[in-house]
Amino acid sequence: PDRNHYIGRFAPSPSGPLHQGSLVAAMASYLDARAHHGRWLVRIEDVDEGRSVPGAADNILALLRTLGMDWDGEVVWQSRRKQLYQAAADKLGAHVYPCGCNRREIADSRLGTAPDGSAIYPGTCRHGLAPGKTMRSLRVRVPDPAGNADLVTFPDRAAGLVAQHLATQSGDFVLKRADGFWAYQLAVVVDDAQQGVTDVVRGADLIDSTPRQIYLQHLLGVPVLRYLHVPVVRNADGEKLSKQTGALAVAPEDERQALAALQAAAGFLQLPLAPASSLSAFWQAAISAWAKRIGLACDAS
Ligand code: GLU
Repeated sequence: PDRNHYIGRFAPSPSGPLHQGSLVAAMASYLDARAHHGRWLVRIEDVDEGRSVPGAADNILALLRTLGMDWDGEVVWQSRRKQLYQAAADKLGAHVYPCGCNRREIADSRLGTAPDGSAIYPGTCRHGLAPGKTMRSLRVRVPDPAGNADLVTFPDRAAGLVAQHLATQSGDFVLKRADGFWAYQLAVVVDDAQQGVTDVVRGADLIDSTPRQIYLQHLLGVPVLRYLHVPVVRNADGEKLSKQTGALAVAPEDERQALAALQAAAGFLQLPLAPASSLSAFWQAAISAWAKRIGLACDAS
């Protein structure tokens, strides 16, 4: 993507309030978009309606506004886009198959776990639902490992060349879950393509998902994106911040507290910034520091 055509996005799952870790991801994608004079979209990833917390999305949007992070265009909600996901699954045709296996049966086959911790699927229903089974989920077939046909590589702007063997490191993965919801992997690819996103900037906890997403981009015939995975904020025990690990919500009560939260996130991203006296001064300095970091001329306009 050239400098004049940049569309980035922040895509929070509304499973709780924004904490310092999600603020870092939001800030990195925002700064990268603004440094490229690009557009910055916000998409609410409430595709997993079971995990969505009522009010969380509105809180996230209100917080972004309070912090001075203005997005372009309309906010998109995944829960309202099921027809797009269905259409994409239809388009994948014979690459997709119904699977009747449950979690327990898959774990029992002991093929190991994918990077995200899910058990690797042994392919039981690959050639038709196994006898006595009814459909639970939809899976996409990944290529056989012969001749490295299952190898996906991509250049990450921070990590360099990333490689993953889909057959042995992921296996056929779920596109529609047993609970009826579309899977994140499909929704994110469909939405990024439909919204014209060119650049994904997000936490490094998602880097292991990227090869599966690139595979789906190939199958759907949509552009492969440019990726930057930024370090993930961890607590003292080395755990990724989340509601489960007790991360505190970012909830500034005034501009001073908003600036403190932003300065902390910028510090985590190792942006050398002097204390700012206002939100607009902060963003101006942060955008030019980011532009310099990534080697873009700094003509903050
Ligand atoms: N919704 C995902 C999350 O909150 C992020 C998806 C993405 O940026 O691709 O972790």
